[in-house]
Amino acid sequence: VRAAVFYGREDLRIEDVPEPAPGPGQVKLRVGFNGLCGSDLHEFYAGPRFYGSEMVIGHEFSGEVVELGAGVSGLVEGDRVAAEPLLPCGACHQCQTGEYHVCRRSAMQGCNAPGGGLAEYAVIRADKAHILPQEVGLAEGALVEPLAVAEHGVSRAAPSAEELVVVHGAGPIGVGVFLALRARGVERIVVAEPSAQRAAVLRELGGYTVLDPANDDVNGTLMAMSDGDGATLSIDAAGVQASFDAAVRGTAKQGRILLLATYGAPVSLNPNELVMSERHVLSSKAYRSNDYRAVIASLASGRYPTESWVQHVKLADVVDAGLRALRDQRAMKVLVDVRS
Ligand SMILES: [Zn+2]
Ligand SMILES: [Zn+2]
Repeated sequence: VRAAVFYGREDLRIEDVPEPAPGPGQVKLRVGFNGLCGSDLHEFYAGPRFYGSEMVIGHEFSGEVVELGAGVSGLVEGDRVAAEPLLPCGACHQCQTGEYHVCRRSAMQGCNAPGGGLAEYAVIRADKAHILPQEVGLAEGALVEPLAVAEHGVSRAAPSAEELVVVHGAGPIGVGVFLALRARGVERIVVAEPSAQRAAVLRELGGYTVLDPANDDVNGTLMAMSDGDGATLSIDAAGVQASFDAAVRGTAKQGRILLLATYGAPVSLNPNELVMSERHVLSSKAYRSNDYRAVIASLASGRYPTESWVQHVKLADVVDAGLRALRDQRAMKVLVDVRS
């Protein structure tokens, strides 16, 4: 079975690995697509920090069920599914109360647990296999994971349709946030994104207020749109000091600031910026199964266009056309077509 095995910094090799077999409660997938994301990029160029070594990576994948382990019900061979890579322990307080995405002992398949999706076959837990309806292709299925990150964040902020919302950062998570906001009827959305390429993608998706934070007055625009109040919801999907500052300062009194990024380095904050305006800080990690279901429903309804911001590469080209293209900002979102 051909697979991408991670050995360490800038060392990802396409190799033959043993074909996995499904244990009890598991299913075996013939993988369709596996998306590359920021954490893959980080681990490859600046890690390894939390990825395991000498294992198959990839945590954003879809596939077709080809074999059922013992005791699996609700799935049949031939089902096309999106894999949810979180592996919660099932026993801790968070797991017992349904908040398994913040499980104390959770691992993530294809990151710090083996068996990732950059392989011709992968085995996943049957309860982590989300069936894709007819209208949702395998390529879209591999986008469910990052879109679920955005969906979970937006659902934590629970915006109403009339709010003024600013999104800092229009990478794949920012795009997902934009789509999730629009799916909730939010129309007054300002997006701040320094990359012209990413800004163009947002405009094509229908974002009409896409600003360049290096040259445009983002917070001035927000104030002008809100009679000087600011956004009632600011979402930091960039995770750097500049976006964090802008998110805090552009937020209205008693508004919410949603942190929806993993920060590469600490950021500083004067707490008075929160105290004196009673701004709320929300954070969001990963997703739960309900976020997967919501994203799959949005994809099936055609509300989530994916053509303009996603490109496909072959497994053999995962480094050059995948990771390197992402690092050099020649690509926005890359799906590895594992079958090619
Ligand atoms: Zn990811
Ligand atoms: Zn747990």
